[in-house]
Amino acid sequence: MEYWTISEGVADRIYTCRQCKTVIPKGSQISVRDGRKIRLIYHSHCFSGKSDPRTQTASSFHEERYQGAVSAEAPTSKGYGKWSTSSYGYQGTLTSKSTSKSVK
Ligand SMILES: [Zn+2]
Repeated sequence: MEYWTISEGVADRIYTCRQCKTVIPKGSQISVRDGRKIRLIYHSHCFSGKSDPRTQTASSFHEERYQGAVSAEAPTSKGYGKWSTSSYGYQGTLTSKSTSKSVK
């Protein structure tokens, strides 16, 4: 049994990628590491290594101080109403509703 759980899905809101530190727009394909208390989210194409986040190429647990420099809170208003509650959660399917390009 592994401490970290890997899952994949579609971003249900905007996240910041732990690998490249840029915004993951809502609706993007993502890879998620779930630990006991934390969740690490990556662009699917940024994910690397195995379940342990220290296998991630840009593992940056000691760079947490930089997290504050990058705003993780981008506007979530765009298209918000179109996503009903049942659309939330990681369903593991890639839908090409990439209309959320409003993020720089
Ligand atoms: Zn990324």
